[in-house]
This record gives sequence, C-alpha cells and structure tokens, in this order.
Amino acid sequence: MFSLPDSQDISILDGDYSVLLVVLSVFIACCASYTALFMNQRIQENGFFPKTFWLVLSSVAMGLGIWSMHFIGMSAFMLPVPMENDPVLTIASILPAIIASYIAFDFANKSQQSAIPYSSIGIVIGIGIASMHYLGMAAMKSEAQFYYKPGLFILSIIIAIVVSMVAMYVFATLQKYMGNQLIKIITAILLGVAISSMHYTGMAAVVFYVEGPLKISNHNHIFHMDLSVIVLVAVGILFIIVGLTGVLERFVDYRLKYYDALTLFPNQRQFEKDTNNLKTIGSLSILQIQDLEKWINQYGYVFGDKVIRAVGKILEDKKLHSCKVYRIEGNRFAIYAFNDQRFEKLKGMMENITSNLNEPIQIDDYAIVINTVCAISSSNNKESVMELLSNNLAVLHDPASTQEKNVIEFNPNIHTYNVDRQIVEDIEKAMVNNELFIVYQPKVQSHTKKVSGLEALVRWEHPENGMISPGIFIPIVEAAGNKIFDLTDWIIEHVCRQISQWLHEDIEFEQVSINIPGSYITSSRLYEVITLNLGKYKVDSKYIELEITETSVVHDIKHAITAINKFREIGLSVALDDFGTGLSSLSYLKRMPISTIKIDKSFVDGISNSEKDFAVLKSIIKLSNSLNLKIVIEGVETEEQYNFIHSMEEAPLIQGYYFSRPLTSKEFVNWTNER
Ligand code: C2E
Ligand code: MG
Ligand code: MG
Repeated sequence: MFSLPDSQDISILDGDYSVLLVVLSVFIACCASYTALFMNQRIQENGFFPKTFWLVLSSVAMGLGIWSMHFIGMSAFMLPVPMENDPVLTIASILPAIIASYIAFDFANKSQQSAIPYSSIGIVIGIGIASMHYLGMAAMKSEAQFYYKPGLFILSIIIAIVVSMVAMYVFATLQKYMGNQLIKIITAILLGVAISSMHYTGMAAVVFYVEGPLKISNHNHIFHMDLSVIVLVAVGILFIIVGLTGVLERFVDYRLKYYDALTLFPNQRQFEKDTNNLKTIGSLSILQIQDLEKWINQYGYVFGDKVIRAVGKILEDKKLHSCKVYRIEGNRFAIYAFNDQRFEKLKGMMENITSNLNEPIQIDDYAIVINTVCAISSSNNKESVMELLSNNLAVLHDPASTQEKNVIEFNPNIHTYNVDRQIVEDIEKAMVNNELFIVYQPKVQSHTKKVSGLEALVRWEHPENGMISPGIFIPIVEAAGNKIFDLTDWIIEHVCRQISQWLHEDIEFEQVSINIPGSYITSSRLYEVITLNLGKYKVDSKYIELEITETSVVHDIKHAITAINKFREIGLSVALDDFGTGLSSLSYLKRMPISTIKIDKSFVDGISNSEKDFAVLKSIIKLSNSLNLKIVIEGVETEEQYNFIHSMEEAPLIQGYYFSRPLTSKEFVNWTNER
C-alpha cells in the first residue's frame, strides 16, 4: 500500500485534471456545507419537526456533500487506462462522512455545555472525512494499481484533522451569528475548502502504475462521466428536499400558530394580525356558544368538539364572501366584514345563521339545539377593531343578552359600563393568575442597526375575553383610581426580574423602558417601588428608563420636574413618550430634565408622501439633538420610512414593526441570536 512492488517491469502513470470538474467539486462541497449550516440553524429554532430530525438531515446533507465532492473530484482526474467502481464500497464510503458530520453538528449545537475540547472532536471528524476518502479510493477497480506516498498520505489525514478542528471552532463560535447570511456563506466556503484540500492532498499522495509496458496512451476520466452526473442529480434532489422541508415546516408552523385545528378557521392571532393595521374599519360580530360546558360535562370532550364543528359548519356554509370567520376562543367565533357599508349585510347574514342555530342539529344520536348569543357592532370609522371587539364583549357580558335569540346590536348607553367595570374587577386577578405578561419591543439605532434598548409593553390574556389590548384596558384601569399603581408596580417588578435574568445570561439589551401612567411619576410610592426592586434584583439603575407622557405632567409641571430630577440623580433615564400628540409645547423639552424624546408614530406615517411631514420631523429631531436628547422615532413600519430616517445625520433610534413587533422574552432572545 505504501511502496512499489519489487518487480522492475512497471510503468508509472501520469494523471491529469479537468479544471472545470475540480472547480465543480469545490463548489459542491461549499454548497453542501451551506445547506447543512442552513438546516443546522433550524435545530436552534423551536419548529414543528424535532431537533433530531434537522440534526440527521443536516448530517446527511453534509455527508452526501463530502461524498459527492470526492467522486466529482475523482471524475476530474484522468488516467491513460480505463477505470471502474465497486458499487458496494462506493455506497458504503458515504457512511463515515455522515457519521462524522452527525458528531460534528451534535457537538457544535451543544458546545456551550460540552466539556469535550474542539481538538478531540476535530480528530473524530478528520478521521471520518479521511476514511470516506480512502474507502472511496479502495472502491476503484482497474488494471492500474496504486500505492500511497507515506508522507503525503499522513499529511492528508493531518490536514483533514486540523482543518476540521478549525472549522469546528469557527462553526461553534459563530453559531449564534448563523442568521447572518454573509457569515453563513463564509463558514460554508471555509468548510468546503477544508473538505476539498484534504481530498486533493490525498490525491497527491497516490501513485498509479501498471505492471508491464503502458498500452493505452489516451487519458480517460478515472470514472465515467455518468457517475458524476448521478452524483450531481443526487445532490440536486437533496437540495430540493431540503428546500421543500424548510418550506413545509414554515407552513406547518404558520398553520399551527395562526389556525384553529378543530374548525380550520384562522385563530385569534390571525384575527389580530388582519385587523391591526386596517385603514378603514368595518363591522364585527361575535357568536358565542353558551352551553358548551354543559355538553362537555354531559357527553365528553369529543362531543364538545362536534358541537363546535357543527357551529363552524353553519358559519362556513352561510357566510358571505366579503366576511371572514375566525375562531378566537374556545366558544367564540368572530365574523368580520372588512367594509363598513356591509354592516346591514353582516347583520342579515348573522340573523340567518342564528335562525339556523335555533333549529335542532343532529350530533351522534342526539338532536340538540345549541344555545348561542350573537353580538354585532359597527364603527363610524372612529373605533379600532379592538374597540369593536370590546363593544361586542360588553353585549355578551350583559345578563339580559343571555336570553336573546336574535342578533344584538351594541348600544353604548346599555353596554359600555359593564366592560369597564369587568376590566377593573378582573385586573387584580389577572396579576395573581399570570394572565398578564410583558412583551419587549426593540429600539434599533438607525445607522448601525444595533439594539439600543427595549420598551416593556404589557399584555393581558383574559380567560374569557381573550387578548385585550393595553390601548383599551390601561385607560380604563387608569380612570378607576389606584389600581393602575398596583399594575405599574407589578410591571416594574417583572421587568427588574427579567433584566437580572438577561444580565445573568449575557443577553445584550442595553436598557428597558417602562411606561409610567398619569401622575404616578410624582408619587413617592413610585420612587420607593423602583429603588426597592433595583435592590432586590441587584439591577443597576442605568438599565431602566421611565416613559412618561406630556399629558401626565402638564397638570403639575413643578412637581413633575422635581420628581424627574430625583430619578435622574439615581441614574435612571426618563423619556417623554408620544411627543407631538398632546399639547406638544416645545417649551417642555427645554424645561423638563428628560434624557430621551419619543416622537409619535403620527409624525412618521406621512413622511414618504409629504415633504412637509418630513420637514417637520427633521426640525423636531434637529431641535432635540441640539438639546442633547436621545431621540426615538415610534411606529416605523416600512422600508421607505426607514430610508428617510436613515438619511438623517442625527441617527435617531427606531422603534417599529419595520425592525420588530413587541416580542416575548424568549422570542427576543431568538431574534437577537438570529441577527
Ligand atoms: P406607547 O407607550 O406609545 O407604546 C407604543 C405602542 O405602539 C405599542 O402598542 C406598540 O406595540 C405600538 N407600535 C410599535 N411599533 C409600531 C408600528 O410600527 N406600527 C404600529 N401601528 N404600532 C406600533 P401597545 O403595546 O398596544 O400599547 C399601546 C399603549 O398602551 C402604549 O403606547 C402605552 O401608552 C400603553 N401601554 C402599553 N403597555 C403599558 C404598560 O406596561 N404600562 C402602561 N402604563 N401603559 C402601557
Ligand atoms: Mg411608551
Ligand atoms: Mg409611544
């Protein structure tokens, strides 16, 4: 294996390379590495398919890549004798490559917790790649024989090991940046070059010879071209499968997240998504199944599911094209007409549906009448869809509604009070029962795109009414007196706890701002609560910013200034929120010892269409800049708006859907890692 036979009568064969195929082989190695990295990234995500699925798939991709690189590399090599392959050994040679890739990716994904050093894992992978190569060499059948030059043979294995170690190190340390396309491409090229360099050093170690004189003088490709075609097709198919699996997973994830599995209607999340940014507000109806619990208690959950499906079927059959049905909660459907003019049509449709529901329906052996209540509310283009929803909930909560068999139209004189009272009553329970949670919206520096802080925004998943927007419940709780202070204290404590956890986990966030309602800023209680929590969670004051609004300080500007100064003295930042919506007196900017100004979304909405709007925004920014204020622009949604802001030399911070919606803490960590 490592020396020529003793016989004197041998002819050494000169090999030759087809440059095109060499380039193709390196390219295939890089592509396979890229695909493997792409799939590996999915291991980090919490998708529909289990992590092992992606681990195996990426190992197969990588293994197949190393293997096809080898055979295309071999096809590139030409000898003056014909050559063939042993099919069993050829196929078996893929195994070491797949196993080595599996070990590599498994290690890389656990590297933070793993005590095994990169060097030992590099040795395993290097041996895996080298075994694949030399098994592949052993698969060759020909009248030509070969031996290895020992020095180069050993060198090729050392190269495989060293380069694998480096690649492992690079891959594991860059793991968290794999969301960045450029870094992924660079790592893939590095891995591709690693695999190829081992191969071609290995080839330099081989000396081909025939016993006796050389008969054929034409150079043949060492393998028939069809082999490389087969390999190419195999790799192509693999890429397609990988691509399709990715698309399928995203689709499954989307369906799970935004659709109800029982009725196949879109769910509450989709409802919020669809209705969040509507310019013209339409009409909304809610259909509630009253006696679902009764049916479940009597005949079990499966029967309950059938009741829900039966109602869903009637909705599906009777609904008009211009309406969309959502299952927003266990026993509630939302039916939305996207156009206000359709109110009468929606009402007529719902009347038709309720009259159908008043008839007995056959489920299993029982003919039952499902008891439902239906509320409807239309906007005169002032209310948001969330307000329509809360109007409808007010109808459903009214005790008189439960007896009504027809569609009940929302009437502000009868129904409003109930919702407000209910919210104020329920908020206390919500804090205790973990119905409230906090989401964080990143603020991003417009030039460097670095995250320069987060805003904490509260969310309420009400057990009966579903998600209630803070835009609705905060003003109601605020109007009801002291409960808003309890709620704010609850938020402060949760934010401090979260900050301490992120600091512990080395997550970069810079600062978190907390909305402080109304006159609470001037209360000594707020000061105490903040200092208490900073101490309790060992959080430095520089991590917290308080957001206050103009309207909350305007009544008592003197005390507000004193209070703000007190917070600034202990190191907190203070921001003036929603600048431009209230009294907008520029003089406040000069008088108040704030550190940050948050310019309201309404200033941004028009900048791409109106030069005037852009000029106003620019001058507010110039002024704030001259007062040394940090500037945050709220509600940036589009690329166009971003480009306008990006063109400003002051480089304000941007908070808006363009970069990210508010995220749960877990989503935020994933979002950061993906960037
Ligand atoms: P805010 O303090 O001005 O918060 C910004 C609001 O704008 C958030 O709505 C945020 O989700 C939304 N937003 C951010 N980027 C965009 C965008 O690109 N487009 C659009 N259309 N909207 C965007 P959210 O979370 O619904 O909060 C609404 C308001 O409720 C807040 O306005 C704040 O006044 C109040 N609020 C929210 N959370 C809290 C809280 O924890 N405490 C208090 N006291 N008030 C809160
Ligand atoms: Mg705010
Ligand atoms: Mg704001």
